[in-house]
Amino acid sequence: MPDWKLAHDYLESLLRSERAGPDELSAYQSKLLRRLVDHAFDETPFYAGRGGKPADLAPHSPGWLSQPCVSRSDLVENFDAFRPSSFSRLHGVITPLSTGGSTGPAARRDTTSLEALARLLASYRMYRNWTFDQSRPFFVFRKLAGENEPRRDKWGFPWNGESNLGDRTWIDIATPAAEQLQAMSGQGPVYVNTLPSNILRLSVAALRSDVRISIPFIVSVGEYLAPEVRAAAQEAFGSTIIDSFASAEGGVIAVQCPEAGLYHIQSEQVLAEIISLHGKPCAPGEAGEVIVTPLYGYATPLIRYRSGDFAEAGPACPCGRVLPTISRLLGRREHMFAFPDGTRRLPELDRVRITQTLGHDQWVLVQRSKTGAEFRHTGVLTAAARQAVTGSLESTLVHGFQLRCAQVDALPLTSGGKRHFTLNEMGN
Ligand SMILES: [Zn+2]
Repeated sequence: MPDWKLAHDYLESLLRSERAGPDELSAYQSKLLRRLVDHAFDETPFYAGRGGKPADLAPHSPGWLSQPCVSRSDLVENFDAFRPSSFSRLHGVITPLSTGGSTGPAARRDTTSLEALARLLASYRMYRNWTFDQSRPFFVFRKLAGENEPRRDKWGFPWNGESNLGDRTWIDIATPAAEQLQAMSGQGPVYVNTLPSNILRLSVAALRSDVRISIPFIVSVGEYLAPEVRAAAQEAFGSTIIDSFASAEGGVIAVQCPEAGLYHIQSEQVLAEIISLHGKPCAPGEAGEVIVTPLYGYATPLIRYRSGDFAEAGPACPCGRVLPTISRLLGRREHMFAFPDGTRRLPELDRVRITQTLGHDQWVLVQRSKTGAEFRHTGVLTAAARQAVTGSLESTLVHGFQLRCAQVDALPLTSGGKRHFTLNEMGN
């Protein structure tokens, strides 16, 4: 049996389950959840130490909601307690993943071959649902561990035969935007997978040059995707951005729907709950923190892990898929401002315009105190640029914020190749 047979069958099953009845989907999920919970409580000291297993695993039940959440610090401080004493060989080999946090120490989280396959299949379903042409070149601009040279392989469904599959080129995200554009030019339409901050750099660089590249789809991952960045990519490359919500801890959590633009939670491989400040599940239109339970996370079981990402729960999708939805992703807590009216959210700012004004993306807007914000940037700010930036920020920040500018020596990308344009330095 070829080794892709399992992947092929799994994709067929995912294409059925997303359109099955809601009861069928929840029965499928409960079966996986029960196995994971049994495994975690039987095999790992962390959950065994909690006493009895939860009896009721229905996501909205009082029994489930009373299960304490696991935090990043639990994982950082007690990693060994999450290691199972044994598990089925069906899960394959274990590989360590570092979660390279944007703030605080990196956490470790192990994964297995089976879990990696489940993540891959979420991409396969996206290729199918968005009708990717799998013969086209695909460029992945991400942080590459220990590699400076581009790497090449093939992408797409292996059962289509290697000669029918497009080339995929992996290039480190820190490569200058002009070189990334150069790598993609002259090949006809290409696809891209990268972080929103790099979509911004590529779009701004293309708009100010005469480079013309057609990128029908950009898969956006790893950071908050701002609407103005989506619009810039449309203008620069004619792109539709497929935003996907994924993390090292949770895997592929949600992917945008081709018909409605809502984000479909990938329920076959993750239980994603959107929980209010009061610990209650959010109704459609309400915002809360996303709590994830990766259903194939046997190597480091995470049951109700606090992702730190906030989202608005969405309605049933008109496309006919039964997967629950997220209507908007709202960013991470540490990037949000605490406003004087008591709300906490990402400050409004035009990332594209500020980057164009400065001529580079090495800047960040920081909340330093209750009403004090600092615009940090590298390089000298001309009087005209300063006026343009502060004018733009003051028009969108809530009145009452004192804004000052501060030049710093460097604002490097994070260890995961991310760039955050907003930051809260007030602690919680
Ligand atoms: Zn849909």
